[in-house]
Amino acid sequence: MSLTEHPFLDGSPKGLFIDGKSVPARSGRTFEALNPATGALLATIAEGDAADIDRAVIAARNALDGPWGRMTPADRQMILLRLADILEARTESLALLDTLDMGAAIKRRRGNVGLLVSLLRYFAGMARAIHGETPHTSIPGMFAATVKEPVGVCGAIIPWNGPLWATGLKAGPVLATGCTLVLKPAEDASLSPLLFGEMCMEAGVPPGVINIVPGYGATAGAALAGHHGVDKLAFTGSDVTGRKIVQAASGNLKRVSLELGGKSPHIIFADADLAAAAPAAAVAAFANSGQICSAGTRLFVERAIHDDFVAEVARIAGTLRLGEGRYDETDLGPVVSARQLDRVTGYIDSGCSAGAKIVAGGTRLSGEAFDKGFFMPPTIFTDVADDMAIAREEIFGPVLSVFAFDSIDEVICRANATPFGLGAGVWTQDVSKAHRMGRELKAGSVWVNCYNTLDPAVPSGGYKGSGWGREYGPNHLEEHLNVKSLWINAA
Ligand code: ADP
Repeated sequence: MSLTEHPFLDGSPKGLFIDGKSVPARSGRTFEALNPATGALLATIAEGDAADIDRAVIAARNALDGPWGRMTPADRQMILLRLADILEARTESLALLDTLDMGAAIKRRRGNVGLLVSLLRYFAGMARAIHGETPHTSIPGMFAATVKEPVGVCGAIIPWNGPLWATGLKAGPVLATGCTLVLKPAEDASLSPLLFGEMCMEAGVPPGVINIVPGYGATAGAALAGHHGVDKLAFTGSDVTGRKIVQAASGNLKRVSLELGGKSPHIIFADADLAAAAPAAAVAAFANSGQICSAGTRLFVERAIHDDFVAEVARIAGTLRLGEGRYDETDLGPVVSARQLDRVTGYIDSGCSAGAKIVAGGTRLSGEAFDKGFFMPPTIFTDVADDMAIAREEIFGPVLSVFAFDSIDEVICRANATPFGLGAGVWTQDVSKAHRMGRELKAGSVWVNCYNTLDPAVPSGGYKGSGWGREYGPNHLEEHLNVKSLWINAA
């Protein structure tokens, strides 16, 4: 499918998706969606602000009182299954839309649609598994039961690194539990969230249940975070913005869940299956051009194998093909924007000034195929001190810092010495070491002899500054439910 053939990019301005309809922003303002690989204009998009968030929240509140509120778990399950079928049938088109909008390789985006389809089917099953309990009281004649009720209007604010995926991840549990949603996509990637809204209608979701309001963080995002009509807010993005969200949400003390950044350690012991660990280390750091919250960006390698292992990871990184994401042969697309490229090059400069050594990449790609886009090759630093900015801060680009270590106690201590705690990877063939690392690493997910594995049934989320709450699995559903205790005096 070529760019001009994409059915969603038909030249018409894209409206906000509110109450089942595409509508212009109240202000009449628009902004542009650009392809980060070529600079080409993809669409103009209505720019929502506080007034639009307000009407979306009203639509979402009204929808709770309409036919949606009377639907049974079986009805919601059927809707989720239909939605999954619709997405699956349009995998190619959805993958291409994300690729054009935010740059990532279409191979990766296809995989993401597949995972999302699986996730929606998981939540379809969970829609019929919601239940309370009947605790036995010690008060004679007193019956008590717990009842689970939808928490109400949910807000969601998502980043640009997986726009369709993040939209579906926020919408799945909302639809399973009978809540409603106002979602603000990232200003750099709003197209597939808007299309997702339309697909919800096709699947039979009543108007007002899923609302998508593109706009900027400081206006639309802040208005959603602070809105008193929103009962729960889910945010995925940087820790800096996460702190602002928490403050804004304190006005009505809405329930908040946060999936923030990471600086995840990836630890390679000398006894590991190195032929498997080396490509995994490269993928963990560079997939999606490093724009993944749980990217393995701190690579700890046992000293005995350090030099050979780093050389192998650098060799593999050098084989990754950079280019426009829409071609099948592309492994890595551009980073999402000029702003993100500046951020990445700023960190690379800071690493060099601090005395770290570049062993791969380091300079923006130039030439005819690259000049109009934001292409940064996989970049590897060695000789990194633990206190350098490139070792401590989330870069969100294809930049890997490598450290040598000598003992298991030392590496546990250094791996945990970070304000983040989203993920951690370990490669070893020693089962005792694997268990010890699994226990002692302070992260929401610890992967042994694999990295970044996801399954809809398995919770994911952060320790420490990487966030609050869990997504995927039963915990994700519970975040969208209130527990009511019902007492009946039957004496
Ligand atoms: P980045 O700076 O890399 O885009 P952010 O965490 O700032 O990462 O962005 C993630 C999402 O948060 C985006 O949808 C963005 O518009 C939104 N956002 C940014 N600032 C705010 C804010 N002050 N309040 C609410 N949302 C915001």
